[in-house]
Amino acid sequence: MTEEKKLVMCIEDNPDNRTLVVRVLMAEGYDVVTAGNAKEGLSLVRNLHPDVILIDINMPEIDGFTLTAKLREMKHLDGVPVVAITANVMKGDREKTFAAGCDGYIQKPINVDLFPQQVAKFIKEAHTL
Ligand code: MN
Repeated sequence: MTEEKKLVMCIEDNPDNRTLVVRVLMAEGYDVVTAGNAKEGLSLVRNLHPDVILIDINMPEIDGFTLTAKLREMKHLDGVPVVAITANVMKGDREKTFAAGCDGYIQKPINVDLFPQQVAKFIKEAHTL
């Protein structure tokens, strides 16, 4: 039985964080596409159908909250989980993350041992809806 590779999109302005996400997820057999800012991400995703979109909240110009709202307006992404990767895990920030339309969040800095499972869980839950 073969399972097709899942595509993860990661929109994050910090190159070191992007590299880490790519390295950890590719080692687990994911395809990963990245963007370094919200504008680039919005442009790229027009022609993609990722299985999950991971977004950084703190980005210059267009932040992750605004980005999530824009992603939610894209019909072809209906049902695709959007997950914030954020160091802001105070109660108010969590609520803001969900209010913006995120399906959940993963705490930053990522735990490289847990990260692939955390991502897999969001994909699995989306596909069983
Ligand atoms: Mn950032």
